[in-house]
Amino acid sequence: MTYQYLTQYDAACYTPGRPYGIDSITIHWWDDPAKHPTFDGAVNTFVTGARQTSAHYVAEAGKVACLVDPDNRAWACGDGVDVGSGGNDKSISIECNPRQSDGDYDTIAQLIADLRATYGDLPLYPHRHWSSTGCPGTYDLNRLDRLARAKRGQKPAASAPARPAAKPKPAPARKDLDAVAREVIAGQWGNNPQRAEKLRAAGYDANAVQARVNQMLGATAAPSRPAVDIDALARAVIRGDYGNGDERRRRLGSNYDAVQRRVNQMLG
Ligand SMILES: [Zn+2]
Repeated sequence: MTYQYLTQYDAACYTPGRPYGIDSITIHWWDDPAKHPTFDGAVNTFVTGARQTSAHYVAEAGKVACLVDPDNRAWACGDGVDVGSGGNDKSISIECNPRQSDGDYDTIAQLIADLRATYGDLPLYPHRHWSSTGCPGTYDLNRLDRLARAKRGQKPAASAPARPAAKPKPAPARKDLDAVAREVIAGQWGNNPQRAEKLRAAGYDANAVQARVNQMLGATAAPSRPAVDIDALARAVIRGDYGNGDERRRRLGSNYDAVQRRVNQMLG
């Protein structure tokens, strides 16, 4: 069974990039089934960021919405971001219809099979594996895993109907990061620790921005640093400017070995 793949929704809350890699899939359910939560309701919660949460996918029978690209991190598992967390940092989160119909299992299994075709044989975990929660209730992860494996056996990845990895994202995270890093360098975000707080409040990953700022500043500073002229130092050593033995070693510091080699060459 194929599914309708919806890409027009984007979650308000997520963290760009996957510095810790991707090594699992986490299964959630929208809410207690007694509350009769709906597909649109689940999508809307993430689009508005009403609870400062998100998931990569919202799924039910025949329908999958991708709200966060799997190459970015959703705020789904309650175990922190940028700390190497197994849930948020390293997992792909699927929010599932809690009614658990056969059609729901079939579509979610197909999505899992498609993700595995792209990201490798990722194991499944329930949300409660990562933090204290009842989510995903009575969802049967063994059944999902069995169905997903059967689907991969049935059809090669190349003919999978909807490849989640193909989702085009309008604004690549890298560009955002560069733009905000330039603003930080221009002083528009003030200084730390307030700067990091402001960046986080605006939805940026403060650590990633700082790393990019450091990179940019390092990259511009490097060419202006004068290169050490080993030949000139070697000639000065031969003239006697650097003394002998330990004094010479101390004054040449980290250049000592290279200069001494050149001196020996010059002296034949
Ligand atoms: Zn959950």
